[in-house]
Amino acid sequence: MAALLLRLRLRLRLLPLLLLLVVSLDAAPRGADAWGKQGHIMVCKIAEKYLSEKAAAAVQELLPESAGGELSTVCPWADEVRFHYRWSRPLHYANTPGVCNFSFSRDCHNSRGQQGMCVVGAINNYTDQLYSYGDSKKSSYNLTESLMFLAHFVGDVHQPLHVGYEEDEGGNTIVVRWYRRKTNLHHVWDNSIIETAMKDFYNRSMDTMVEALKMNLTDGWSDDISHWENCANKRATCANHYAIESIHLACNYAYKDVEQNITLGDDYFFSRYPVVEKRLAQAGIRLASILNRIFGDDKQDANAIPLQAQ
Ligand SMILES: [Zn+2]
Repeated sequence: MAALLLRLRLRLRLLPLLLLLVVSLDAAPRGADAWGKQGHIMVCKIAEKYLSEKAAAAVQELLPESAGGELSTVCPWADEVRFHYRWSRPLHYANTPGVCNFSFSRDCHNSRGQQGMCVVGAINNYTDQLYSYGDSKKSSYNLTESLMFLAHFVGDVHQPLHVGYEEDEGGNTIVVRWYRRKTNLHHVWDNSIIETAMKDFYNRSMDTMVEALKMNLTDGWSDDISHWENCANKRATCANHYAIESIHLACNYAYKDVEQNITLGDDYFFSRYPVVEKRLAQAGIRLASILNRIFGDDKQDANAIPLQAQ
């Protein structure tokens, strides 16, 4: 009994400490976890506009009630559960050994060397799971979670520094100043560029920025859309190709002319912002086209080609 009391007292004494730890973990910089919340919401708001009728209906059916019928509300979810689902943490990115190209067999694994445990493997895996929608024999998957993961990771693979160098953890260990604020290069690409654009061009309104991106899609980028959507790999997605694009952009834009403790300002912002804008739009278009292939008319074309499992 005395021992039990002691344990209880100890536990009570540890409780505030534990709470503090939980709070500080939550407030910690988000590190290697993708476009910030706003980037993910924007990607999904664009995707929603390009869903086929069938895909929109399936998405509606799979969304949790808390989503209020909008895919975009659940797109940051995967970042919120990465402490709870620790296994999912490597699924947000891929690292290369300091080279400007991506190779699935070389780079898509977790720290224990498990193949497929990176953002590209995750996109293919959750796509494959969603193909079982409507098939009661294969309904052992939680397809609501599959959809929420897929929508998030298609955003992530388009953030150039989510396919960055292993050595600097996709820019996380490169300390920079964004104008006057101290941060790191990864965070600049997740959040700062988007936030500065919203403040400078869009009156701090995400909706206005999304509208501008949608307008670009029907105007300046309209000829590019079919090229972005083009994916010969009907069943397994073209996530591999999106990762290759990202590491190229990481080398040519994100890392370029950046060194430890550098101050990044107008020059960097104005030359990199167009890349961010385009990647958000591409991610939205490609997410829609993956969902349209899964749930839309293309569905009957899909044969049971086995995918690399995770
Ligand atoms: Zn992420």
